[in-house]
Amino acid sequence: MTISAKNFRELRLDHMRRDFGGMNALRDITLTIKRGEFIALLGPSGCGKSTALNCLAGLLPLSGGSIWLDDTRIDHLKPEERGFGMVFQNYALFPHMSLRKNIGFGLKMQKRPQAEIDAKVEEALALVRLSKQADKLPGQISGGQQQRVAIARAIVVEPPLVLMDEPLSNLDAKLRLEMRAEIRRIHNMIGCSTIYVTHDQDEALSLADRIVVLRDGQMRQVGTPQELYARPAHADVAEFMGYRNILKAEAETEQNGRLTMRLGGAKLEGFAVEPGHGREVIAALRPEDLTPANDGPIAAAVVSAEYRGRDFYGLARTQEGLDLWFRSELSVQPGEQLRLGAPAERVLVYAGAAA
Ligand code: ATP
Repeated sequence: MTISAKNFRELRLDHMRRDFGGMNALRDITLTIKRGEFIALLGPSGCGKSTALNCLAGLLPLSGGSIWLDDTRIDHLKPEERGFGMVFQNYALFPHMSLRKNIGFGLKMQKRPQAEIDAKVEEALALVRLSKQADKLPGQISGGQQQRVAIARAIVVEPPLVLMDEPLSNLDAKLRLEMRAEIRRIHNMIGCSTIYVTHDQDEALSLADRIVVLRDGQMRQVGTPQELYARPAHADVAEFMGYRNILKAEAETEQNGRLTMRLGGAKLEGFAVEPGHGREVIAALRPEDLTPANDGPIAAAVVSAEYRGRDFYGLARTQEGLDLWFRSELSVQPGEQLRLGAPAERVLVYAGAAA
């Protein structure tokens, strides 16, 4: 017997909406998730991530739209009728029950035969590498191990969908990295779909097959980690994906999407991402792509610099008072005058005026 996801083709969210009074916490969420896909819901605090997860779990009713598992409409079903697995940041284990009992609880509620429960629990324990600790209480194991128990408990019922709400946020940095790999490994082994809520772009990039970026309850962009990293569709998505320099500029000439812009006193080249931009544009670039170069177009003075092991990460200011985050392989000192430049293909240009 092997733990595997229940057979299904896809989960479909069709114009899903949730209001709180007059406030639209989620609007018009339409998305099809294939069996086996790992989806990260990524966005800043208050963007609607937890509301989306709670709607999927059945803990919050929808205000509009529907949720479908293949041809079955499921948004009116109670949480336990949906049969999804859930993993939360606070683990939510029963403190007085052994790990084995915690993991078997859902199967017991489903009144499965004891022999089947025992076999499935053993398998889930092995999958999360906790077989030897099975008779301990949650209080006798570490935070990382407790999170493994929570994962085992979620997957032992062989759910089509596993919902995870910032499951690693209570763990230290090293354990977070280890558990990331574990979560992906377990996901691959059981073949379920996973929806993983996080505000951490690194976590989303490293785990997901597709990332859904939410903002103000709306989907701003859906794409693979590579697409979101290299080609954010909007300036606010770019900012969230680590394009720390979001700069107001004035478009001058354009040929085949390649733009020349005026940025304070400097001329900068970049590529238009959003069609139909006017003269006022926003240039987005990552600190790691803006580096000191003798022929760099931007003159600035170093404000501060931090050693990061392989290189230095600094803040510089132009004469016009524009702040720029940059990276340097060589040591730089506050007050030092620099010329900074970036390859045109790494400068993304969006419509509109930066704040
Ligand atoms: P965080 O990362 O801080 O948990 P989030 O992205 O999960 O944020 P949600 O908790 O889904 O955001 O909240 C989305 C919006 O809905 C927020 O503006 C929030 O204040 C509002 N909201 C959430 N729950 C309720 C509620 N029960 N009553 C009223 N408003 C709510």
